[in-house]
Amino acid sequence: MRIVILGAGFGGLDVASRLSAEFGAAAEVVLIDQAEGFVFGFSKLDVMFGRATAEHVLHRYADMANPGITFVQSTISAIDPVAKRVSTGEGPFDADILVIALGADVNPRVTPGLVEGGHEFYSVAGANAAAEAIGNFAGGRVVIGVTSTPFKCPPAPSETALLMHEFLRTRGLLDVSHVALAMPFSAPIPPSPDASAAVLAAFADRGIAWHPSAAVRGLDTGRRVAQLSDGTELPYDLFLGVPVHEAPRVVVEAGMTVDGWIPVDPLTLRTRYPDVYAIGDVTSVGTPKAGVFAEGQAAVVASSIAARLRGLTDDASYDGRGICYIEFGDDTLAKVDVTFLSGRVPTGVLVGPSRQLVADKNAFGAQRAARWFGTQWQPTTQ
Ligand SMILES: Cc1cc2nc3c(=O)[nH]c(=O)nc-3n(C[C@H](O)[C@H](O)[C@H](O)COP(=O)(O)OP(=O)(O)OC[C@H]3O[C@@H](n4cnc5c(N)ncnc54)[C@H](O)[C@@H]3O)c2cc1C
Repeated sequence: MRIVILGAGFGGLDVASRLSAEFGAAAEVVLIDQAEGFVFGFSKLDVMFGRATAEHVLHRYADMANPGITFVQSTISAIDPVAKRVSTGEGPFDADILVIALGADVNPRVTPGLVEGGHEFYSVAGANAAAEAIGNFAGGRVVIGVTSTPFKCPPAPSETALLMHEFLRTRGLLDVSHVALAMPFSAPIPPSPDASAAVLAAFADRGIAWHPSAAVRGLDTGRRVAQLSDGTELPYDLFLGVPVHEAPRVVVEAGMTVDGWIPVDPLTLRTRYPDVYAIGDVTSVGTPKAGVFAEGQAAVVASSIAARLRGLTDDASYDGRGICYIEFGDDTLAKVDVTFLSGRVPTGVLVGPSRQLVADKNAFGAQRAARWFGTQWQPTTQ
């Protein structure tokens, strides 16, 4: 039985490696991605602030050695979810079971002025360009702004503000600088009041200006101001933006989306098409767009496929749980254990911030690199 997985990100890699671990060379898994390799989302922050090189954080698919997985580097140009057939630059692929894990694309062009006058830091290319701008920054007003919801890793803009503050301090630029963060949420980490309070306390401590419930609608690049949805304007010398997110075009053109994302059963991750699953950021499953949730969904799908391959009853069910790390700067981290269950108020329990959790997060990245690529890897240069 051939399993074709579209997208080798957090979710796709996890389904593939779980099937490989369980079935070895007998797993007939085709994993397709257009990229040269995988980069953890959090590694973009490491690159941006000069803590790791772009080369260090790239996990090349060519290095994958898991038995039973055939990796195909190609762009997927069409998906037929009824026939379970996909078209790629390397030809068509037919599947018995299709798993769509194509993530969310970012589109900075739809926010006026962002491409011309600011830096998005959510793509690998954007994070690399932002790293150069930050490295050359001589101090001034830094604005970090979110343009719309949903967006990946809701803590990331707050982490960026805190790491920016640390960067300015270590460069001796704090006296001539100011950091502001605008976000369309009323709290930095909405499901966890404790985590939000800790982040807001850290902002207050460092003099970081917090603009809640406000999205950045555009940049007036002539006047160098960010225009917010609440009508206010924030002057900037350096603008770091979270761009608009959308499902990859190939998924939209396949007619699989409703209100922008693929609807799935929140417990089984099945789509409305038989034998077609969707996981991670490309779905509207109800969890935030983050790797830990894509991974939790991947475990359910891998278990469901494994049961099917063994002729057993499929009883795996998604629990909506994930552990997110939050960088506070100065080598301190917190983690929030969050659960999103359909129809219930999400909950989040905070641990930290503390220095001990740095090793915890490094282990998180290292374990995944080992599982997915069979490599030994240290995530940051901290
Ligand atoms: C700055 C930042 C920090 C983050 N920090 C964290 C964190 O600390 N913890 C956490 O859990 N999450 C974090 N995230 C979020 C995390 O990176 C994503 O939510 C996660 O990668 C989603 O997994 P996914 O499998 O759904 O999609 P992705 O990992 O995005 O994978 C999708 C894959 O599909 C491929 N693809 C798309 N379209 C095509 C096509 N047409 N043809 C071929 N291939 C295609 C892409 O190349 C990509 O490899 C962060 C994100 C950012 C930007």
